[in-house]
Order: sequence, then structure tokens, then C-alpha cells
Amino acid sequence: MGNDNQVTLHVKSIGENVSLVRMMAGGFLYPYDLTLDVLDEIKIALSEAVSNCMIHGYENREDETVTVIMNVQNRHLTIEVQDTGIGIADIEQAMEPAFSTKEEHMGLGFVFMQTFMDNIEVFSEPGRGTTVVMKKQLPAMETQMSEVG
Ligand code: ADP
Ligand code: MG
Repeated sequence: MGNDNQVTLHVKSIGENVSLVRMMAGGFLYPYDLTLDVLDEIKIALSEAVSNCMIHGYENREDETVTVIMNVQNRHLTIEVQDTGIGIADIEQAMEPAFSTKEEHMGLGFVFMQTFMDNIEVFSEPGRGTTVVMKKQLPAMETQMSEVG
């Protein structure tokens, strides 16, 4: 079943730490008997949020800190991803599919977060940073099996 749990991670804003955070999430979620598909979706949403902090929030500066808080209560997962970077002036526009402030980027990060999680909220203030809060009810093992088969 897995108990309620919470962990807070502070990672340096370097690319390698995106995969580190993914692995941490895998370990954190291990007790909840998720299928690999569900686990992968959560990891994709989390990676997108963390890399946004590094690429956009900190404009690739590597001496900054990204904070990730993962919490499970009654199989309800909340993941909070925070930076203290440049912030987002127009959150609605930033969340539009295919919108990006960087030319070579696809602008689909928020789309993935919204697709793979039940609910996402973005709090941001220019010059102060951004917090993304993502929520997902973790499906019971039996439900996941019947969805597959
Ligand atoms: P992409 O990363 O491909 O640009 P996203 O959907 O992930 O697409 O993000 C859309 C836009 O939202 C980014 O181009 C950026 O302008 C803004 N953004 C997202 N996250 C952050 C953040 N943590 N700090 C500042 N801006 C952000
Ligand atoms: Mg992105």
C-alpha cells in the first residue's frame, strides 16, 4: 500500500540533476505499486518542471537551486517545483501549447505536465521566481491493470 510520506530536495541547477530528481521520484513512489507507464508519466511531468526552472527560470545559470517537494497523502500525490529565478510575466500565455520564449524549444512542457497530472497550478512573480504545483491521485494497482488489459 505505502504510507503517507514527504521529501524535500534542493538540487543545484545543472542538467544532470534532472535525471537525479527523476530517480529520486522513482524511489519515493516505489511503495505505491504504480505501473511503469504511470511512473514514467509522473517522471516526465517532473522533468519538464525542473528543466524549466533551469533553462528559463535561471537562464542556464548553474549556481542556482531548484527545490522539489514530493508529498503523498492517502495516495494523493502533490509535487511542488520551485525556482527563485526570473519568473513569468504572463502565466496564461506561457501555458499555451507551443508557446515558448526560446526559439529552438517546442513549448510543450506545460502540456505534458497538464496531460500527465490531474491538475497543475503555476504561481510566479517576475524577478522573484516560479512555483509549479502538480497533483495526481495515484491509481490503485487493480485499476491500472484493468486499464491496460
Ligand atoms: P518550453 O520549455 O519548450 O519553452 P514550456 O511549456 O515548458 O515550453 O514553457 C513555456 C514557457 O513558459 C517557456 O518558454 C518560458 O517562457 C516560460 N517558463 C516556464 N517555466 C518557467 C520558469 N520556471 N521560469 C521562467 N519562465 C518559465
Ligand atoms: Mg519546458
